[in-house]
Amino acid sequence: MAHDLAQDATTKPLPRIRITTLAPALKQVKNEIELRQKGKYEIDSALPGKHTRLLYDKCTYREAKVLCQLRTKHSRLNNDLARTKAVESTDCECGPKRETARHFLFECTRWTEQRKPLVEVAEDRWGDLSFFLGGRTERKTAKGEYLDGPSKPWKPDMEVVNQTIQFALATGRLE
Ligand SMILES: [Zn+2]
Repeated sequence: MAHDLAQDATTKPLPRIRITTLAPALKQVKNEIELRQKGKYEIDSALPGKHTRLLYDKCTYREAKVLCQLRTKHSRLNNDLARTKAVESTDCECGPKRETARHFLFECTRWTEQRKPLVEVAEDRWGDLSFFLGGRTERKTAKGEYLDGPSKPWKPDMEVVNQTIQFALATGRLE
């Protein structure tokens, strides 16, 4: 998010901050971040906090590296590399489909074998990118209740996150 805000600052006029003291100015930036969080960031509707530490604390360096790539959209997948022109096309090697985290985890036919354990732990949450990357989803059930329950006692499902990491490592695609 900080990266996006910094990038915006180089290409478009920033909202004018009229307040001259630091605390209200920071509050304005925080509001801006929260607005973006709601509108744009599909992976994790919970602000970074305890659950983010829970996600990374038990990881080895190698595991944290792949999880971080998928959560931040700064990865070796072509869709991300094409943004910085490191590769020409966003397409996956399997065909004319964008190689996004979603494609990589759930769809790509190159990783069907490595994906099997992940399918097993998924149950009815298959395809829910937030869930697999340890984020809180704002998806609701048919009854209008949050799929992840009330936001306070919520925690990421570490078994699923771990399987996601193991899948990514097994493919070798993010290293
Ligand atoms: Zn593919």
